[in-house]
Amino acid sequence: MTFNPLTGEFAQLAHETAFLAHKLPQTRALLGFTLVFCTLFYLAFAVSDFAALGYGPQFLQLCAARGIVAATAGTCAWCAYRTPLSVRATRVAASTAEIVALGCFMFIAVRRPGEFHWHAMSLAIMLIVIYLYIPNSFANALLLASGATAAFLALALRFGRMSAADVVTMVMLLLLANAFGALAARRFNCASREEYQARTQLQHAAARDHLTGCFNRRHLHDHLMRPGPRTAGGPLTVVLCDIDNFKRINDTYGHACGDAVLRSFADLLGAMTRDGIDSVVRYGGEEFLAILPGTDVDGGIRLAERLRTRFAATGVAAGDGTTLVRTTASFGVACADSGSDDADRVLRDLIAAADKLMYDAKRGGRDRVCALRLASPRAPVSTPSP
Ligand code: GH3
Ligand code: MG
Ligand code: MG
Repeated sequence: MTFNPLTGEFAQLAHETAFLAHKLPQTRALLGFTLVFCTLFYLAFAVSDFAALGYGPQFLQLCAARGIVAATAGTCAWCAYRTPLSVRATRVAASTAEIVALGCFMFIAVRRPGEFHWHAMSLAIMLIVIYLYIPNSFANALLLASGATAAFLALALRFGRMSAADVVTMVMLLLLANAFGALAARRFNCASREEYQARTQLQHAAARDHLTGCFNRRHLHDHLMRPGPRTAGGPLTVVLCDIDNFKRINDTYGHACGDAVLRSFADLLGAMTRDGIDSVVRYGGEEFLAILPGTDVDGGIRLAERLRTRFAATGVAAGDGTTLVRTTASFGVACADSGSDDADRVLRDLIAAADKLMYDAKRGGRDRVCALRLASPRAPVSTPSP
């Protein structure tokens, strides 16, 4: 994962999308809280309108503008909450509230033209809020903040009654607010993504086998054997695979060659299973388990047979660089209907059944597939293969 050096966001769209999806519940809560918090302050500043203008039509106009901001921010916060979780919805809500608030702020500034220095200070604080507190993309924040700064300076020059020194100070102040806001937003983006990256790497290391990249036993027990959508309802098939005479490969060609054979088997198994649906686990030293939700016994047998023939035909180069090492594998395939009640127990029993079948395949001469469909996990009804 690499970072965009300007924005601090992930350079690859897929990583950025995954990060935003991971953060979405938190982002939505933050957006709602920030909009409500800022709106209350915005409304409270009506006191300053009263102090500047006294009670009258002008004051009421400014109150109406502040009311529009409050209504928009409230509606945006509500919409962001009501719509299904979506990054786009939170960004549209954030940008809409910001545009309306900045527009009304400019209107109020023009109606109180004698206080442009104070308005500039208010805008500087609003810029920091836009860059740092209202969750939005870096590009949106930069566009809104710099656009608002340009519009405000144009209004200040047109309507403000200021000396040249005031104008220069105001320009410097707003440039500073933009520069620090953008730098802080970039730093914040980097920090939150680095934390996410470290967390993802830790989760990956805890769930995966280092040599083959398959899931490990810890992941099998902590996640896959727990009830959940993967195993809820429909047929469920497990395939237990054991490489034949593997110890002989280690003893003859060395452990590095054995490791390469393990990787080649895992790669084949990974390529033949469905990403995000099936799970491939390194079950033991040279034993692998494939969990195939929604697959019947025939589908499991087809997978095992394809894997058996492909693996038997695949050679791995030994350390001498000339010998191609080949071996075979034996397979146990077990299938059952995974009722939603006790799906984790079904999986446990299927693994035990596939383990027995794999040993049947070994006893039958190795390089073969033994399969069984269970009516219920504890009651075998047929033994269709080998
Ligand atoms: P069978 O056909 O009956 O399955 O015999 P086998 O030799 O494949 O099985 P056995 O259980 O006798 O040997 C498995 C070997 O796998 C023993 C162990 O040293 C080796 N092994 C376990 N993990 C690794 C590993 O990560 N790398 C390597 N190179 N070897 C491993
Ligand atoms: Mg074994
Ligand atoms: Mg073996």
